[in-house]
Amino acid sequence: MSDTRELIIIGGGPAGYTAALYAARANLQPLVIEGFNWGGQLMVTSDVENYPGYADGVMGPEMMAEFRRQAERFGAEFITDDVTRVDFSEQPHRVWVENDEYPARAVIIATGANARWLGLPREQHYQGRGLSACATCDGAFFKEKELVVVGGGDSAMEEANFLTRYATKVTVVHRRDEFRASQIMLDRARANPKIDFVTNAVVEDILGETKVEGVRLRDTRTDETSELHTDGVFVAIGHDPNTALFVDQLDHDAAGYLVTRPHSTETNIPGVFAAGDVQDHVYRQAVTAAGSGCMAALDAERFLAALEGHAGTALTAPRAEAAEV
Ligand code: NAP
Repeated sequence: MSDTRELIIIGGGPAGYTAALYAARANLQPLVIEGFNWGGQLMVTSDVENYPGYADGVMGPEMMAEFRRQAERFGAEFITDDVTRVDFSEQPHRVWVENDEYPARAVIIATGANARWLGLPREQHYQGRGLSACATCDGAFFKEKELVVVGGGDSAMEEANFLTRYATKVTVVHRRDEFRASQIMLDRARANPKIDFVTNAVVEDILGETKVEGVRLRDTRTDETSELHTDGVFVAIGHDPNTALFVDQLDHDAAGYLVTRPHSTETNIPGVFAAGDVQDHVYRQAVTAAGSGCMAALDAERFLAALEGHAGTALTAPRAEAAEV
């Protein structure tokens, strides 16, 4: 068992690395257990054009490497492996990577969420080549193109509407003829002259050698197949938060997202904080994840400073003042 640390951060995406940067600069010497596949969803994104400060855009993996390097520069330590177990029942909290135990007074969970994909055999091959799960990130690459959006929820309607800013035509493909989307979102999509609907259909295959050129659809009632030309496919069938390790110990919503107190990253357990997509199913942007990683580091720092017997850290400002920084 290693010595008790001030802070462990679980997860190596924008939230985790930003938390690490702030915590390292506050001399908390954070240990980041960043996951075997560190970098999060940005590792499967090509150009990032909406992260402030990168006026010419940046490749997702390059940006994550820079985030990591910046935290490392101030003394954050990393374990490139997956957490396998946690116990938040008492102080210090305990985190395991296989049989190695890491106790810490505070823990920030920043394990993110993953977009659901269709589960087609060559799906990974097309990611960054016309297949995306994020219209905000990739929509602008499809000016004057034709697109397919898969899904029947609010995300699908929102993405379809958003994509009509760029695309000449967007076809929403949904597996049923009833929609999970709220009426207002559905009505807005139906009223958009650039949006067509194909219902009772699933995407059975993506077509194209090097990039997306079409989809093969299967009618769910008749099993008949048809081909539809498209320049891109946006999958909007939901996200899954990476919270399996935590849901038996922390408050979460019906979809598994960790619940934090309003205007805070505090979970229901003192000393355990959550940041980024693992607790946010609404905004889901790198910049909002990074912002909440910063909040979590400040919250953890404040928590540690208040712990009895703790020597204190740089942050002595009361809560309201700190929030203005
Ligand atoms: P969702 O509500 O769970 O909808 C997912 C959709 O994808 C459903 O229509 C589902 O079909 C379909 N689907 C799931 N797996 C599929 C598969 N393997 N193949 C084909 N289709 C599949 O997810 P969401 O749209 O991402 O929304 C998540 C939450 O965020 C919701 O609470 C939503 O209201 C909220 N949200 C709100 C806004 C907003 O208000 N602006 C925007 C986006 C999201 P079935 O219906 O047949 O199950």
